[in-house]
Amino acid sequence: MSFIVENIAKIKGRIKIAAENSDRNPNEIKLLLATKTVSAQNIKIALETGETLIGENKVQELIEKVEILKTIPYQKHFIGHLQTNKIKEVIKYADCIQSVDRFELAEKLQKRLEFENKSIDIFIQVNTSYEESKFGVSPETALDFAQQIKQFDRLNIKGLMTIGLFSAETEQVRKCFRLLKTIQNEMLQRDISVNELSMGMSGDFETAIEEGSTIVRVGTTIFGKRLYPDSYYWTESK
Ligand SMILES: *Cc1c(COP(=O)(O)O)cnc(C)c1O
Repeated sequence: MSFIVENIAKIKGRIKIAAENSDRNPNEIKLLLATKTVSAQNIKIALETGETLIGENKVQELIEKVEILKTIPYQKHFIGHLQTNKIKEVIKYADCIQSVDRFELAEKLQKRLEFENKSIDIFIQVNTSYEESKFGVSPETALDFAQQIKQFDRLNIKGLMTIGLFSAETEQVRKCFRLLKTIQNEMLQRDISVNELSMGMSGDFETAIEEGSTIVRVGTTIFGKRLYPDSYYWTESK
């Protein structure tokens, strides 16, 4: 059996335990396979275990793998920083963009989607750790931002996404997730339909589940270590 199959089974077990420990239904929590740098062959192994959701960070990688995995049904989310000159390709290949983080991007997405007579699911990315290296709207402006982009009828706002603080101190990381939950509640009160919370990665998904995550994005613990540090993937999209 492939190590990927075993790792997925282990992660699912940990998701279940984290959910039960916080009195949540494990079925409310989706596993997104973070597949940057992972080969199409290895993604196929993961999808054949019954998983149905992947996330890519780079437009070019997304396109190459979608082309190879054409015959398999699965959902593709874009989770990397999106440059406006890549919009056309992303809306062709992705089902959802989790990294909407600025007005200009939302506006250009709307225009292009109108032109193609399509719509797309989106998440608003919030920088809950206040780290400069990370993208996302600031927690203080998130509500205003959501209200502004609500006018764009081709963008279906589904939820919020964040990357927690990189720290071994769980309580500091937890604060990021709790903040995203607070922002979600404020938005829901104002009829912004952010029902999903995409938070938690290999190092912190259990904490994220305890704080209300509905989508955990897991890469390393399933597919192994990547060649480059994450900062490489979080900069401009290639
Ligand atoms: C790479 C990546 C992940 C997964 O990270 P791991 O630590 O490998 O689990 C999750 N979210 C985003 C946005 C990523 O770029």
